[in-house]
Amino acid sequence: MQQDIERILIDRHTIANRVRELAEQITADFHEKDELPEITIVPILTGSFIFVADLIRDLPLRMQIRLISVSSYPGKATTAQEAQIGSDLDDLPASLAGSHVLLVDDILDSGQTIKLVSEILSAKNPASLKTCVLLRKQREAAMQQPVDYVAFDIPDEFVVGYGLDYDDYYRNLPDIVVLKSDVVDDA
Ligand code: 5GP
Ligand code: MG
Repeated sequence: MQQDIERILIDRHTIANRVRELAEQITADFHEKDELPEITIVPILTGSFIFVADLIRDLPLRMQIRLISVSSYPGKATTAQEAQIGSDLDDLPASLAGSHVLLVDDILDSGQTIKLVSEILSAKNPASLKTCVLLRKQREAAMQQPVDYVAFDIPDEFVVGYGLDYDDYYRNLPDIVVLKSDVVDDA
């Protein structure tokens, strides 16, 4: 696994510090809305699982977690395909009336996923809806999709680690890395 890494883009310490900082900002923003805010976190699986696990432990707020699964980079794809909701894993209640919702994804690339899931959540009438991504790629489509919280802006490159996969591998790498080109076979 280590031998497949071309370079580390964001190391684990930088990630940890930034996640803590972002959590403080989110906590302050939710407190501004409501003295005792109650929130619903909606992590988009699978890629956001490590990010959300770290983030929520720095959010001292009363919360429920509702998972949703979306796939837009199936298998060995390194460019976005059409985003699809996984029917096997959708933990969302019929209505989100009264909840302040925080949607969390790993990376904003074409923007399809956030757009699709935001529409699904808005239709459930939440009290408010905020979006949070770990990474945002420096590309036109990503910059045009409005999001509320971004941990890092990164170059338009395919990255893995800290939850992000290639063909479902590398999610357990603690740093966010770029793989060697001979490992990534985008056929
Ligand atoms: P979007 O719908 O914004 O194009 O893509 C978002 C989804 O595509 C992410 O949740 C992630 O699963 C996948 N994705 C986009 N860029 C990358 C990348 O550089 N690396 C990995 N591993 N997945 C990516
Ligand atoms: Mg994803």
